[in-house]
Amino acid sequence: MTVDWRNLLVLSGPSGVGKGTVVNRLLAERPGVWLSVSTTTRPPRPGEVDGIAYYFVDRDEFHAIADAGGFLEFAEYAGNLYGTQVTPVAERLSHGTPVVLEIDLAGARQVRGSHPEALFVFLAPPSAAELRRRLSSRGTESDAVAAARLALADQELAAADEFDRVVVNDEVPRAAGELLQLWDERRA
Ligand code: 5GP
Repeated sequence: MTVDWRNLLVLSGPSGVGKGTVVNRLLAERPGVWLSVSTTTRPPRPGEVDGIAYYFVDRDEFHAIADAGGFLEFAEYAGNLYGTQVTPVAERLSHGTPVVLEIDLAGARQVRGSHPEALFVFLAPPSAAELRRRLSSRGTESDAVAAARLALADQELAAADEFDRVVVNDEVPRAAGELLQLWDERRA
């Protein structure tokens, strides 16, 4: 199986920055792009469907996949495990399908170590204050979880310069457009 890892876009950035919204816009503009479905031990939020938002598993199942070498990357984030299963990603890439991963900083670092030819983009908020506002107005998490995510967000913001490019999520259509342009340039 020949896999061209330049067709992989790794999008990272702090929780609450709007990665999901920007990716949805990108997918709407490029229906041929495949968004990887991650595996997590986090409980589903209301409305999240197993196999669509995530594959929801318990910690034993997660460790079994990890022990079998099934993850391209995995990391613990705010007390839950998250990972990208390698087979579906490699299969898509081997068929020439562009793939997006929406993952945390630790995971992005792992993929960079194994596949540096992928495109690594950090999605940044217009300001740290705006990120705080977005995180605290989300309302889906307990105060403790929201506080843990805020603390992690500060660490993640500091890592922006490890990425190939930083895209500011000031306006979703503009940010998605910039991402697509960067990706097209990488693959040209
Ligand atoms: P959430 O719980 O809000 O859905 O996700 C929390 C964080 O985990 C986000 O920063 C998200 O990008 C990240 N994440 C989601 N899936 C994965 C994954 O497969 N691997 C890693 N390393 N992080 C992930």
